[in-house]
Amino acid sequence: MSFGLFNKKIDNILPGRVLTDREDLVCYGFDASSREGMPLAVVKPVETDDVSRVAAYAFNNNHPIVPRGAGTGMTGGSVPLKKSIILSLEGMNRILDIDEKNMVACVEPGVINAHLQEQLEEKGLFYPPDPASMKFCTLGGNVAENAGGPRAVKYGVTKDYVLGLETVLPHGRVLNTGGKNYKDVVGYDLTRLMVGSEGTLGVITKIFLKVLPLPEEITTLLCTFSKLDDAARTVTSITASSIIPRTLEIMDHESILAIESYKTYGLPLDADALLLIEADGSHSAVSNDAEKIADICSFNNGKVNVADDIYSRNRIWEARRSISQALYNIKPSKINEDIVVPRGRVPDMFAELRNISERYNLKIANFGHAGDGNIHVNIMTDKSNQEEYDRAKKAVRDIFESTVKLEGTISGEHGIGLTKKDFIDMELSEVSIKLMKEVKNVFDPKGIMNPGKIFP
Ligand SMILES: Cc1cc2nc3c(=O)[nH]c(=O)nc-3n(C[C@H](O)[C@H](O)[C@H](O)COP(=O)(O)OP(=O)(O)OC[C@H]3O[C@@H](n4cnc5c(N)ncnc54)[C@H](O)[C@@H]3O)c2cc1C
Repeated sequence: MSFGLFNKKIDNILPGRVLTDREDLVCYGFDASSREGMPLAVVKPVETDDVSRVAAYAFNNNHPIVPRGAGTGMTGGSVPLKKSIILSLEGMNRILDIDEKNMVACVEPGVINAHLQEQLEEKGLFYPPDPASMKFCTLGGNVAENAGGPRAVKYGVTKDYVLGLETVLPHGRVLNTGGKNYKDVVGYDLTRLMVGSEGTLGVITKIFLKVLPLPEEITTLLCTFSKLDDAARTVTSITASSIIPRTLEIMDHESILAIESYKTYGLPLDADALLLIEADGSHSAVSNDAEKIADICSFNNGKVNVADDIYSRNRIWEARRSISQALYNIKPSKINEDIVVPRGRVPDMFAELRNISERYNLKIANFGHAGDGNIHVNIMTDKSNQEEYDRAKKAVRDIFESTVKLEGTISGEHGIGLTKKDFIDMELSEVSIKLMKEVKNVFDPKGIMNPGKIFP
């Protein structure tokens, strides 16, 4: 089909909501990984029926489609390959219902995570999954990536809150799974299958989420360590104690330097590591937990500061959430990994990372959700220095080998997308990969749904 005829046909499906000009398409060709591609067209549905019509058109004409939320993904999941149509869900951004009686929120996929949080908080409610990108990523993207965040250590990740989904399948038909029920074991759990499927099985058009009551009180502690090893040991001591903190985040020296050169927050520049720890719950539970946490930090040579007002608390979190941008500011083509090890292995993983950094003579900045064993490893390299970049790519393989050796996983929350697909056989067996490909084939027999992602 000629390009002109394609434009005319696709425009007829959603008149006025199709972009085909090059300068528009460029804006939808990348995400927060360093991957890029040029889509054939961008379509902007505003309701489920629009998505169905575009999917049916793509199915009948063998066009790949790529669902896209806000494009903040770290692994190239929404980057178009081949001649793809981008289905941008940004216009499906309504909070359809906050059902306080049933403690369920129903949203369209383009709702920004933080917008839902704000609406819920006004009603004394709480949706725990809080990716650091929460002010700009969509809930559809969160479901498709099974996003986590600092609060996952106590409250779990996106999959623990998704009760039901409406999904448009690649041929355009609509699949409804689950709904408002907190329990449901009728048949296979197709809702769970869709969560974390990275847009490769269908387009999520409606989401039912479990919500919780807002915790009564929160205490925030910032603990400074002059040795990273002490901070890593503290993480393991806290997770092995009887306390479940609301957050248990780590930032190493390189991350602290990057944050402070990005914006001045007053973090201690001489610290080798910081732990950002919160406790939440009733007043008595919080003060009890905070006291125990402070004792564990002090025992491991940490210096404890309490953020005693909302201003200092918000400022510390703003600093924490700025790390990714701060590191990109220093090295725009840094390589970012998202490994997880069993929590007792956090000190061993930091030792492995130090060895790898020395072996390849590369600066590596580490931060992340240490309470989950989830470390965001950032190899500070520059694509313009090819020799260094090649060394960095070798270091990535070593990092994954060490992770798997420590019984960890190569991705905790960012997914596989394009950037990690060549490594999945380090972790998944041949049997698993074959079965997953067969599942994909059942949903998407023509292979038009976000092709080229997840599988090597
Ligand atoms: C500064 C920064 C901090 C981050 N911090 C965290 C963090 O703490 N925790 C974390 O988990 N992630 C984090 N991320 C990664 C990213 O924000 C998450 O993966 C987020 O869930 C992506 O949402 P999005 O709307 O941007 O999705 P996109 O990037 O647009 O898409 C991501 C994937 O989801 C698919 N998709 C999107 N919408 C749909 C839909 N409606 N139906 C089907 N498939 C769909 C896409 O095809 C793609 O494969 C961070 C990213 C940045 C830039």
